[in-house]
Amino acid sequence: MTIYRLALRHMQLMLFATLAAFMFVITIDKWMGHSTWAFAVAVLMLIAFNARIRLFNCPNCGKNLFFRGSIIVPWPNKTCGNCGADLDAGG
Ligand SMILES: [Zn+2]
Repeated sequence: MTIYRLALRHMQLMLFATLAAFMFVITIDKWMGHSTWAFAVAVLMLIAFNARIRLFNCPNCGKNLFFRGSIIVPWPNKTCGNCGADLDAGG
């Protein structure tokens, strides 16, 4: 499993978690009426879950696969934007 594949899997998990959080907020809303706390809990869970994003770094130079400069994008780099290493090699 390459770092790129692991990052892709993380991205898929995040998509799933976002959907789950969305369903959670809708369910609580229907069940207990409109609530801000359900939304807050969902956002906090997503932030906590996404903390793993910091672990996906280039093995060569340590640049994060999800960062483009100072911007975070939801899809990982297949080639390191800093040193040009192939992040899907050897897997
Ligand atoms: Zn690199």
